[in-house]
Amino acid sequence: MSVRITDLCINCDACIDECPASAIVSASDSPLVDGEYTYVKPEKCIECVDCTVPKCADACPTEGAIVWDMPYTAEYDEYYVSRNDGVTYTIREHPKKGLLSPLAQPRPFRESVGLDMRQGDTPVV
Ligand code: SF4
Ligand code: SF4
Repeated sequence: MSVRITDLCINCDACIDECPASAIVSASDSPLVDGEYTYVKPEKCIECVDCTVPKCADACPTEGAIVWDMPYTAEYDEYYVSRNDGVTYTIREHPKKGLLSPLAQPRPFRESVGLDMRQGDTPVV
């Protein structure tokens, strides 16, 4: 990631069309086993690094619905793969490349967002 959507989400789906990476899907399309909320695909999120603020958070009316997650980089491969259980994440399995884990497909991230914010589920604002 990335950013992650929490259970504070009201499923308004206002964030979906704003995402420049097509990383967000509605609850009805969530790849999670019991996906109740709009979901961010960590293997696609680029943290809107080219924008002043993340577009999803800019569109979101619900404080705390979108929080920072760990960088989607090789260093955090185990973090994501160990949570790739259909409950927290469902990372896409590419037919030829295999699992698009951070090791296989690292994504850009905002270096200005510290690990304390990422580990602490700090809202993206
Ligand atoms: S931070 Fe940007 S790229 Fe990531 S889900 Fe939000 S809008 Fe999409
Ligand atoms: S804009 Fe916010 S509240 Fe609406 S679906 Fe997206 S994360 Fe949920």
